[in-house]
Amino acid sequence: MPMTIEQVVERAHEDGVRIIRFLYCDPSGVIRGKNVTIGRLASKLVEGVGITRAQNAVNLLEQLVHIEGMEPVGEIRAVPDPDTYSVLPWLPGTASVLCDQLDHDVRDWGCCPRSFLKGAVADAASLGIRVMAAFEAEFYLAEATPDGIVPWANGPVYSSAGMDRAASVMYDIVSALERQGIEVEQAINEYGPGQQEIAIRYADVLTAADRHLKLRDTVRGVTEVQHGKIASFAAKPFAHGVGSGAHVHFSLWDLAGERNLLHDPEAGDRILSTLGRSFLAGVLEHLPALIALTCPSHNSYERLQPGAWAGSTVSWGMDNREATMRVASPFRGREEESINLELKACDSSCNPYLALGGLIHAGLDGVRRGRVPPEPARRDPARMTDEERARCGIRPLPATMQEGLAALAADPVLFPALGELLGRAILALRGAEAEALDAMSPDEARLAHLRIF
Ligand code: GLU
Ligand code: MG
Repeated sequence: MPMTIEQVVERAHEDGVRIIRFLYCDPSGVIRGKNVTIGRLASKLVEGVGITRAQNAVNLLEQLVHIEGMEPVGEIRAVPDPDTYSVLPWLPGTASVLCDQLDHDVRDWGCCPRSFLKGAVADAASLGIRVMAAFEAEFYLAEATPDGIVPWANGPVYSSAGMDRAASVMYDIVSALERQGIEVEQAINEYGPGQQEIAIRYADVLTAADRHLKLRDTVRGVTEVQHGKIASFAAKPFAHGVGSGAHVHFSLWDLAGERNLLHDPEAGDRILSTLGRSFLAGVLEHLPALIALTCPSHNSYERLQPGAWAGSTVSWGMDNREATMRVASPFRGREEESINLELKACDSSCNPYLALGGLIHAGLDGVRRGRVPPEPARRDPARMTDEERARCGIRPLPATMQEGLAALAADPVLFPALGELLGRAILALRGAEAEALDAMSPDEARLAHLRIF
């Protein structure tokens, strides 16, 4: 049952909350917002807080980019979804809610990523599909030293020693997530020095995006406020050390949420249902453009390299960690529930609403056109012959942010789906970022991303 405004106010009082953050994620992937005090909560939950249209015209580098329609004239409202209320366990008396950005007529003002995702959900529903997803979040724990910011809690990768060194922070993160109703499935000492991963339970896509933002805030808040360390969700925070992904695991269900439509017991070695294969084919066709939404930062492209398990080509395979789209093998005894697709070309510098909305539009295009994917990659694409690569339809992904943005602008499905203002804003905001970051040294450019997400 969705929470009512009265229930949120009552809960906030019971929780001893004094300050409520009204948050939204902007087109640059930054979580921004305003604080509201408890006395004003009831009215602000209805009317939202005012923000200037130009607030979304600020990019990652805090450049105020001139975008027509997003001038510093005119106000919009950040209106919370009551269901997103949760306390912030790393701070006393504080909670947060996530907002839609609406015009005075209470509709998307044209640049609301959360509304964009809702539109994609409705599109999928018109074809009888309900998309469920979870982001698998990787991040680095780090500390500031006289020599700069360096990884912290290093241990042999995947090791119990690494777990011990990170335990003080990781245990607090897991319990802070659980206090917010976010069920943690696995917490891993990942491959990089000080790199960690947290996998949470899947949910409908809107909730999955909301939870990913809550997770980013929680990891950063617990690490910085409670432990005086640094957490970085940048895609490639350190030159020497693998990147951090936010792999999207997703599955397609019927509208009642009873049947996983990816699963077809008769499919045999075709692995996926016909619907699943068409959705996959759509994602692969649009992937070069989609990464401008899923791996949108300058730093993202440093991660998308061969040999890093991050995906660097248009490719798919069964449990193939070098294929950008992986069909994850189902678990014994719960085959139908557990079969899912994993998009590896996604990182936490994304706006999760844009990433999931783009993914859905790409896949639905494949479904509408009854597309069929090429042969799966049965080996690491980098080790295949040219002929094998051609058979599997393997081609490179854009290598730079500029190339990714050009692919997005040229995509006949994804770009129009964003809507006129949002599409134009992304190109302008990101284009300015790309230009400025291209002019920096690689170290400076990397550092510019380290503490943003
Ligand atoms: N760190 C890798 C990435 O950037 C993923 C490693 C894994 O498969 O978990 O996506
Ligand atoms: Mg991982």
